[in-house]
Amino acid sequence: MTAPTYKRVLLKVSGEALMGARDYGLDNATVAAIAQDVKGVVELGTEVCLVIGGGNIFRGIAGAASGMDRAQADGMGMLATVMNALAMQSALEKIGVVTRVQSAVPMASVCEPFIRRRAIRHMEKGRVVIFAGGTGNPFFTTDTAAALRAAEMGCDALLKGTQVDGIYAADPRKNPQAERYDTLTYLDVLARDLAVMDAAAISLARENKLPIIVFNIHEPGAFTAVMRGEGRFTTVVEH
Ligand code: UDP
Repeated sequence: MTAPTYKRVLLKVSGEALMGARDYGLDNATVAAIAQDVKGVVELGTEVCLVIGGGNIFRGIAGAASGMDRAQADGMGMLATVMNALAMQSALEKIGVVTRVQSAVPMASVCEPFIRRRAIRHMEKGRVVIFAGGTGNPFFTTDTAAALRAAEMGCDALLKGTQVDGIYAADPRKNPQAERYDTLTYLDVLARDLAVMDAAAISLARENKLPIIVFNIHEPGAFTAVMRGEGRFTTVVEH
């Protein structure tokens, strides 16, 4: 087997990506399909870690909009990500992928706490590490957590699975004429305010020279294809 191009990658999966056609919560078939794609990448010999969002269950900003204290509401959002991480762990283990969930919000009876060096060791042993609890701090997002963990884990790339096959100038589901980009710089994304990841995540990736690869998570096998350099995706790099 030839060495994989990417030795270690982090895949960010938003909570909404786990909803399937529902408008709230988890769709088991969708979680299972993403797990299958993760398995394909593990089988290429690439070490994989995941950051899972929580927007399918609760977003702090929505709680704050309805009158809650923002930090308190963000605590609920972080808990939502742990639920999603446990669901993804279950789906992966069902198909024989060994996993560990590590939460930035310690929850010892359901998962490990986040310990950077232990997470690296798990990946070296071929285990998929699922990072839950975001950064563990309110006022952040799981996009930023993904850039942070990818940098801490020494990942070669940060993959962002979205609903479309790359970055567009506008939402192509609303505007079919929207321009699609193959490559962009971090500054392009920031200056054009492209809705792909929040600015904190883009800046962190830029400072750490971490390429961001955006692809359609709902296309079966797309993650594996992207790791082989096939399929459609947009790359965000320095130049
Ligand atoms: N959250 C947080 N700190 C973090 C990451 C997430 O407080 O470092 C909370 C925040 O309330 C957020 C929620 O968790 O709305 C769910 O995460 P996010 O919105 O990033 O999920 P996604 O959009 O990826 O599903």
